[in-house]
Amino acid sequence: MPRMKITRIEVFHVEYELIERLYVWSRGQAVKTMPSTVVKVMTDEGLVGWGENCPLGSAYMDSYPAGIKTGIEVIGRNLLGEDPRQMDRINFTMDASIAGHNYCKSPLDIACWDIAGKAAGQPVCVLLGGRYVEDYPLYRPISMGSPELMAADIERFMGEGYRRFQLKVGGDPRTDIERIKQTRDVLGPDDILVADANTGWTMRDAIRVVNAVEHLDVHIEQPCRSLRECMNVRQNTNRPMIIDELITDELPLIDAFGKGAMDGINIKLSRVGGLTKAATIRNIAQALGLTITMEDGHAGDVSCTAVSHLVGSTRPEFYFTSSDMNSYQELRIAPDAPFRKDGRFPVSTKPGLGLTVDEGVLGDAVAVIE
Ligand SMILES: [Mg+2]
Repeated sequence: MPRMKITRIEVFHVEYELIERLYVWSRGQAVKTMPSTVVKVMTDEGLVGWGENCPLGSAYMDSYPAGIKTGIEVIGRNLLGEDPRQMDRINFTMDASIAGHNYCKSPLDIACWDIAGKAAGQPVCVLLGGRYVEDYPLYRPISMGSPELMAADIERFMGEGYRRFQLKVGGDPRTDIERIKQTRDVLGPDDILVADANTGWTMRDAIRVVNAVEHLDVHIEQPCRSLRECMNVRQNTNRPMIIDELITDELPLIDAFGKGAMDGINIKLSRVGGLTKAATIRNIAQALGLTITMEDGHAGDVSCTAVSHLVGSTRPEFYFTSSDMNSYQELRIAPDAPFRKDGRFPVSTKPGLGLTVDEGVLGDAVAVIE
């Protein structure tokens, strides 16, 4: 097979403004508008791939909006001349360019998968291992607010078809207990509720809250910052536990599993460096019997669609939740990209990611590597 070569990479900035009220989570963090970085990877055969990373602000995880362009400029120079279909080689080259900074690598990795899919005439999910589902049920995160407001939000989103919800908690413990109780009250027995503290609780507060809801059907997500703290909470409570922020790589996953820290994990594409590494972590998690949430910090049409191919190639018994963040704002950068319908997200059957970016929406490139 002749080599295909990356010849040019263009970087674009767009900004998404949430349709809903201010998105608030633990430690007083909040966002309303989010800059997203979109990359276009071009090849000597004329095939083009698209990638994207839209961080949830600058402080949620190791993903700094203004840093993505700089990182792509450094990494991108080393990708020129590489074959975008050779994913492990691409990732080796990216890791040899900059240690860490996975949020800069994720959009490039996604764009290479888009090219590989188009070159093979197959959707990315097929190349990631196989297409298990036509579509999948979504969850909706509920911005931190009063227990009454959060319950009302859930009832409104149920009207849009969602049956799985993730509460932003990690605030005052007595209010967090009420948030969980009042929202569980408006849900049916088959509906899924997660209380996500995003590392914001102390061990003491986490144990108080989780024990106060021990009779309720609720999952707890990443109560505290460190694995040791999360372990202490788990050993002193009885609700199912999901680890999110600590899953940065295969090794933290294997370490946390060995210590019995959790029943499920949350994989974020830009935290682990893109689809290649996310699929590796997903495969290990499946082998370990863990349930899996797959998404990104925030997302537009391109990164949300990338997530959908990871979900589509995940064995359904291990799928827990995913989000459709490209519906959280008005701006569509790929109007034909997959989109939520009745609380479910479709897995594209078209080659590559299966979308067409509207370049008129992107404006001029902010960086060109050639
Ligand atoms: Mg989380």
